[in-house]
Amino acid sequence: EQAIKELNVGRRVGFYKVCCEIGCGNFSKVKLAFHALTKDKVAIKVLDKLRLDLQTQRMLSREISIMESLHHPNILRLYEVLEAPSRLYLVLEYAGGGDLHARISSEGKLSDLESKLVFAQILSAVKYMHDNIIIHRDLKAENILFTSNSCVKVADFGFSTKISKRSQMLDTFCGSPPYAAPELFKDEAYLGPPVDVWAMGVLLFFMVTGTMPFRADTVSKLRRFVLQGVYVIPTWVSAPCQRLIRGILKPEPTERCVLDQMLGCEWLLPVETLRP
Ligand code: ADP
Ligand code: MG
Ligand code: MG
Repeated sequence: EQAIKELNVGRRVGFYKVCCEIGCGNFSKVKLAFHALTKDKVAIKVLDKLRLDLQTQRMLSREISIMESLHHPNILRLYEVLEAPSRLYLVLEYAGGGDLHARISSEGKLSDLESKLVFAQILSAVKYMHDNIIIHRDLKAENILFTSNSCVKVADFGFSTKISKRSQMLDTFCGSPPYAAPELFKDEAYLGPPVDVWAMGVLLFFMVTGTMPFRADTVSKLRRFVLQGVYVIPTWVSAPCQRLIRGILKPEPTERCVLDQMLGCEWLLPVETLRP
């Protein structure tokens, strides 16, 4: 009934009736919408074409083609792209469970078991991306969404890139400073996969402790902490989880854990038997 009522408000985009705003980013607003016939819920990311410079347009077309190519249960689906004279609409799978940042803010931190279940799903998504030589480059809690059944959906491929081989060097600083690997702060060419792995280490630390491993009030201070590689894991974090965090947050990218090591780590091993 609520859905029917909502169908009668708001604007229409293609077959969709747009209702309330559910999120926003730098260049976009994300709205909840319903398919007029099937009543299926979707999220529509609305972009104002006139506000997009050439660089942003290029990134957006990359975001679209990469998302269209990815089919994985833990990666947010892009169903279709609609266009109006001044706007672009990305019709996305709806993730009704909010994002990981909001969840950690409201719960303080995740339990060890919840963290394992969430991390295992992020790992599965990133493994699939990297197997398809796609680097996300903006993994952070705001971009990890949940469905209403708490299934993880990795979202926001705005900084992602498809490389030609795993050893290809990249050179643009991408993502959010608190999640950025030391090599990104050095203004040098860097390898793709290890920067996503580093961000996953920051995510893991954030999930299990509710705090960020590297915090500072300015980016230059943050840069110094990250380059020095000093962070403190609270002693109450389980030993297998601490070992995983230390294996991931290694300043030297070649010494950093790779995804296959993470998949076999002791901390995650019981997950298969714990899953309902
Ligand atoms: P930006 O590239 O501007 O950061 P995002 O794609 O990350 O845009 O979306 C911004 C926010 O909107 C997300 O952090 C999330 O809270 C919300 N959001 C985005 N997509 C969805 C979706 N499919 N379902 C529910 N909420 C979403
Ligand atoms: Mg985002
Ligand atoms: Mg983005």
